Amino acid sequence: MEKIIIVIAIAAALAGVLPAFIASSKGLNFFKWWIYGALLFPVALPHSLLIGLRNPLARKACGWCRSSVPADAEYCPKCGYEFETHGH
Ligand SMILES: [Zn+2]
Repeated sequence: MEKIIIVIAIAAALAGVLPAFIASSKGLNFFKWWIYGALLFPVALPHSLLIGLRNPLARKACGWCRSSVPADAEYCPKCGYEFETHGH
């Protein structure tokens, strides 16, 4: 029984990497999305895909390289510049 729980936990951790990769490519925190993806994979995967698509106007310019990034990005996916986030 314990083995099954460990296998499920490993599978969830591996599956969670996918939405985490998608989210981090859009400037979101990889680790937070990894946990989110591991716990709620069926929700996290479409959520990560929809970020930036749902409202393409909700974007901001990177203060360093000037590229356009999703408004809720925590860092620039292009140059890695970290934005100041005002709470959340
Ligand atoms: Zn940048």
